[in-house]
Amino acid sequence: MAVSTLDDRAWSQSIVRQDEVDKYLSDTGQDFINEDLIHKQLSDARDPDPRHVRDILAKSREMQTLAPEETATLLQVTDGDLLEEMRVTGLEIKLKVYDNRIVTFAPLYMANHCVNSCTYCGFRRENKEMHRARLSMEEIRRETRALAGEFGHKRLIVVYGEHPLSDIDYLEESVNAVYGVRVPTKKGHANIRRVNVNAAPLDIASLKRLRNVGLGTFQVFQESYHHETYKRVHGSKTLKSDYRWRLYAMHRAQDAEVDDVGLGVLFGLYDWKFEVMGLLAHVRELEKTWRGIGAHTISFPRLEPAQNAPTSRNSRYAVSDEDFLKLITVLRLSVPYTGMICTARESKEIRDEAVLRGITQMDASTRIGLGAYSTHYDEQEEARQQFMLGDSRSIDELVRDLAGMGYITSFCTAGYRIGRTGERIMRLLRTCTEGNFCKLNAILTFREWLDDFASPDTKEIGEALIRKELAGAADRTPKLHRKFSDYYERTVKGARDLYV
Ligand code: SF4
Repeated sequence: MAVSTLDDRAWSQSIVRQDEVDKYLSDTGQDFINEDLIHKQLSDARDPDPRHVRDILAKSREMQTLAPEETATLLQVTDGDLLEEMRVTGLEIKLKVYDNRIVTFAPLYMANHCVNSCTYCGFRRENKEMHRARLSMEEIRRETRALAGEFGHKRLIVVYGEHPLSDIDYLEESVNAVYGVRVPTKKGHANIRRVNVNAAPLDIASLKRLRNVGLGTFQVFQESYHHETYKRVHGSKTLKSDYRWRLYAMHRAQDAEVDDVGLGVLFGLYDWKFEVMGLLAHVRELEKTWRGIGAHTISFPRLEPAQNAPTSRNSRYAVSDEDFLKLITVLRLSVPYTGMICTARESKEIRDEAVLRGITQMDASTRIGLGAYSTHYDEQEEARQQFMLGDSRSIDELVRDLAGMGYITSFCTAGYRIGRTGERIMRLLRTCTEGNFCKLNAILTFREWLDDFASPDTKEIGEALIRKELAGAADRTPKLHRKFSDYYERTVKGARDLYV
């Protein structure tokens, strides 16, 4: 479908609501990213005293958000033994808050038309070689049937470019289309139970509309918190070039009562230590403004090669594997209770290592071309993708590999459906009591998935893990354990979507 450049421009100009930015600024009209202060904090933290580092680790163990100076100190650690202590502490915290669960999901790309010119992205408007498409509602239902019925996914992140063809009407209709699909399985039925959205920043009225169709997490990544870099990679006259419209996307989400939000940085655009500080400044700002409700998840994609996207290759700020793993550890320690997502941009080896540093969510069977789940095109075809993937494991392989490492793959989506979001989820996470429910729901959904979708090899290793987990479940209160045991037996017999 063709939309003229003139229409694009008129549409772009209608999107930004300046009043929905200005109301969040400081009395002096500043946003909350103070670059001079961040540079000073990083500089002051050079050559940290190991005793001070260990004091900071003790604070992380208490599930407290670290102060900026403390995060800066951890970022400046270079001693190998101290780095290993940090990694071990990060994993210890993750296990305390989230136990040995890894939540899984799949991305579903809905539309790749885009009015923007991000120099790192294959969907940028200048890329004339990109195969452009927007899924019709029937195509969305077909993709959803494949995701739910062939792969067994329960949770999606749906992704859109920024364009009049993917405006709020399309967002709303497409999320509804996903929720409307039910597929018969061996023992019951399969469907997508949680739809998270990764989209451009929206105004408050549009966010309310998404909330009303069952939005899970709303994700907007700032890409870079460094003002000058942000301007450099987004141009000066594009819709996305408005740094503050993007920076306050989650303030507007909270105002729209969308209290489950995901932040992220695209690492490789600017100095990674600065970006970690910026990302955490954002978390703290949200916590300060919205009764302790910060980010539910944080994501940390690295630049990957993309078609006709000059910044996606040979960036002077490219983050090495070593630094990437270190930044995951520092994020885990700085916001001990926050979900952390490591996607299939990364290789299997890096993702395995990230699990040992406390990440909580991974995608699987990932395909990022439009229509790719039901049409099976060549995954290495640049002209259909935003970037290239690093981990092409199927969900069956991922589940098996994680089980081999002692991790249970969770397909649980109960939390937001029974109101465990916002303030409530933050309290449960900070007090390490969220796991009481979530681990049991992880077992129930793992049972479902093994029965409906697992290969014989995966089922065998999964069964061994389930036996161990069932023994551990007996530690819960008698009432909770009784309810769980009843649900487990019913799930074995074919009941679906039971949760405590
Ligand atoms: S990163 Fe997003 S906004 Fe930028 S060109 Fe790509 S799809 Fe468009």
